[in-house]
Amino acid sequence: MKDSCVVDVYGGVRASVKIILLGPPGSGKGTQGIILSKELEIPEISTGDMLRQAVAEKSALGQQVGEIINQGCLVPDDLIISVIEERISRVDCGKGFILDGFPRTIEQGEALEKVLPDSVDVVIYFNVSSEAVVARLAGRLTCRKCGAVFPIMDTSLCTVCGGDLYQREDDMTSTVLRRLKLYREHTEPLVAFYRDKNKLAEIDGEGSVEDIAQRVEEGIAQVLA
Ligand code: AMP
Repeated sequence: MKDSCVVDVYGGVRASVKIILLGPPGSGKGTQGIILSKELEIPEISTGDMLRQAVAEKSALGQQVGEIINQGCLVPDDLIISVIEERISRVDCGKGFILDGFPRTIEQGEALEKVLPDSVDVVIYFNVSSEAVVARLAGRLTCRKCGAVFPIMDTSLCTVCGGDLYQREDDMTSTVLRRLKLYREHTEPLVAFYRDKNKLAEIDGEGSVEDIAQRVEEGIAQVLA
């Protein structure tokens, strides 16, 4: 029987593991995050999914961020930092978590370091060309319920949870280019930030889902070794 107090991370048993998935929009972080979450039995936390849910529920947060998201801009650091601080303090994060879409600026990375007494354990950086990203985002549908993504025409319902699929407004080409520009300016500097801390595993983010999952596993094992 599996010990419910530890997390078995590719051959090494630990009390917890905190993983960040870093890369441009459409680099496959969400898809790999869902796979990792099932394997490691720790939550995958997507700030984009959390914000879209807040918009759908028309909560106070949702009303603040709806327009910003649709335009492909970044929501203010202090707002998203307080959202993530509250989320990772919940009991389901006791054995760690996988962050998808946070941090997205150096300020957010520094805030996370302050909140976590012993820092994050591994940062997986998905290296994907801008051309591949634009093609993927413009050609994908997203599940309204669980956030899984599928190529357009592949299926009309989510094969993970049965939810409806739709094209995100911020996946339209003009908005994608803005998101990519913001990524290069504000998020990419986090690659050096975590490399300097010896937490970074850079992987080739192009190829099949299975091949990339294998690279993610090897990257995690390498950084934790
Ligand atoms: P994503 O699903 O990760 O592509 O996020 C969708 C949108 O949510 C982004 O384009 C931003 O508007 C917003 N967002 C998500 N995470 C963050 C973050 N860490 N910082 C600022 N804005 C964010």
